[in-house]
Amino acid sequence: MRPAILFPLFAETLSLPGVGPRLEKLIAAVAGKRLKDLVFHLPSGVIDRSYRPKLIAAEAGRIVTVTVNVLDHLEPRDKRQPYRVRCTDDTASMELVFFHAHQDWLNKSLPVGSQRVISGRIERFNNRLQMTHPDYIAAPDEAMPLHEPVYGLTEGLSGKVLAKAIRGALGKVPVMPEWLDPAYLKARGWAPFHEAIKKAHAPVHEEDLQPLTPERQRLAYDELLANQLALMLIRKQLRLTNKGRVLKGEGKLKARALAALSFTLTDAQNQAIAEIEADMASPTRMLRLLQGDVGSGKTVVAFMALLDAVEAGAQGAFMAPTEILARQHIAALEPLAQAAGVRMALLTGREKGAPREALLKALAAGEINILVGTHALFSEDVNFRDLGLAVVDEQHRFGVHQRMTLQGKGADVLVMTATPIPRTLALTAYGDMDVSRLHGRPPGRQPVETRVLPAARLEDVVEHLRGAMAKGARAYWVCPLVEESEKIDLAAAEERCKELQASLGPMVGLVHGKMKPAERDSAMARFKAGEITLLVATTVIEVGVDVPEATIMVVEHAERFGLAQLHQLRGRVGRGAGKSSCLLVYHPPLGETAKARLATLRDTDDGFVIAEEDLRLRGPGELLGTRQSGQLEFRLADISVHGELLAAARDDAGLILSRDPDLKSDRGVALRVLLYLFGRDEAVKYLRTG
Ligand code: ADP
Ligand code: MG
Repeated sequence: MRPAILFPLFAETLSLPGVGPRLEKLIAAVAGKRLKDLVFHLPSGVIDRSYRPKLIAAEAGRIVTVTVNVLDHLEPRDKRQPYRVRCTDDTASMELVFFHAHQDWLNKSLPVGSQRVISGRIERFNNRLQMTHPDYIAAPDEAMPLHEPVYGLTEGLSGKVLAKAIRGALGKVPVMPEWLDPAYLKARGWAPFHEAIKKAHAPVHEEDLQPLTPERQRLAYDELLANQLALMLIRKQLRLTNKGRVLKGEGKLKARALAALSFTLTDAQNQAIAEIEADMASPTRMLRLLQGDVGSGKTVVAFMALLDAVEAGAQGAFMAPTEILARQHIAALEPLAQAAGVRMALLTGREKGAPREALLKALAAGEINILVGTHALFSEDVNFRDLGLAVVDEQHRFGVHQRMTLQGKGADVLVMTATPIPRTLALTAYGDMDVSRLHGRPPGRQPVETRVLPAARLEDVVEHLRGAMAKGARAYWVCPLVEESEKIDLAAAEERCKELQASLGPMVGLVHGKMKPAERDSAMARFKAGEITLLVATTVIEVGVDVPEATIMVVEHAERFGLAQLHQLRGRVGRGAGKSSCLLVYHPPLGETAKARLATLRDTDDGFVIAEEDLRLRGPGELLGTRQSGQLEFRLADISVHGELLAAARDDAGLILSRDPDLKSDRGVALRVLLYLFGRDEAVKYLRTG
């Protein structure tokens, strides 16, 4: 149960004076539904109202606070014209300009002859000073903030209204028992939580907005500590309740499959297999992440582990994020399965009716050894006779909760991601897992030559393609889909496809996410078979498609993609022996971040370097695309700058749990409050009570 001391912070924003349903929605869009969400919405800027010049000396464009006398009101003749109020401070005069303002309100706030303190941005037009919609109009004795926090907003929500709501929420922050170690707090010079959060909302200078101020550090540390504690508790629980089992073979099946392989495994692959086998052979349950760049050869590693499970008498599941990929896996693995003498089957959303029934029956009877498929693998009615190992490919689509569900099915779990993850991110997002890294790529691969070109050179790109296709090359041409205007983007991709067909001939095909799965698969199959040699695609090819013959990747609007995404796209080529190239075509102008992204990509193809850079440029939430899962959403911490705090929080969490595993000491009880405060409740339920 949530500690009572947090009740005020978990009240809905609706409970604030002045917040009704309309405002609640707007606030929810930028911060959240509860007061704590408002409190966690830290300012992104500060307005300084301390510039108080005489009007004659006022610099146009700046925020000024001036004391003036109201001279007169100039009512517009026409409602569409602005209403003007003239004032003076004896050195010069200024016009206040209002659009659609109420006459009553104007008369009341700016009576002719009165003295007023006015604050806002001053401008100069035709050599006359004016201020449109002042931020503040106050009587001389009324208080006005000298420094005001600026918050991230959304359309329809004004800064003033949001700031007021946040002030209201800050007023409800209770003094909570300290959850940090007093000595540590002192060494760092940090204030208690309630003081730190208030200070973070009261910036005076730009520097106060930096992530490394003492108060922002304290808040970040709190959030990271909650994250690390929760992950450790979850992990401990998984090991405790899921006793796991020993899955161990003599390696007979593996040896047969290896003999059928057309290549030998790399050292990196062998090492990963060894780590996985050790986990499976131990009596605790495996929860392991296999990280490896695109094309690093994760599939065969996973398959060897699945064979181990089968040899040990259990079944295996291999889940891919898309149907295309599931089909691709099964096609690639079938020869190996046959060599090993195991029975493999495919289950996706498309298997229906009697065939599906038959398949499920065979699965329940244990006649199918390895089931490959999509999410459909884990539907209610899919029952394995004895599932020993579940492999989940392309992990970045799944969150902690889905991992937990898999665990619930009672098997060892191996998740694979083609997004190399920075160390800090791995700790916060996957702290509940062990990690294997597949470094490097299988031998025989040539690096992909990467070039960055402006759209003005599109003609050259097409000519290059013409030449290459004449020599038998196969190429991808990727057009991005951006959510907000998907229809327009799709039309653009179709248009591009037509143009390319017109200039390069009928070997140009199109595949996009809005196609029926069957159509899409057939287009992919034709590309694989070489009936289509240029495949125009929206990003459906992002995840894992394997056509080793493809040697050219053109990415249009490369500036719209993230670094990791571009890296993945590039990974679609350079998979065979042929020399490959990647042409990143951008539409100017290029922003600073986009420029940095494209340069990084041109200069390196080391996925781990790219990942660190991506984290620096974009922050962690974007990086893994797990915004939906909510798991990585740090509100106060930013692991691209708070890496040092993360390491400390991890040590701290370990120490805490070794001394007080069920958080029963005074500090432990305070730490429970911390876990609730940051929404890590799921971890609290694993604590033994009483
Ligand atoms: P990913 O890690 O992206 O899933 P895959 O497992 O799809 O990579 O492997 C990419 C390609 O490399 C496949 O065609 C696969 O057969 C091949 N491959 C894997 N391991 C090796 C190896 N040791 N030597 C040569 N080719 C390999
Ligand atoms: Mg793969």
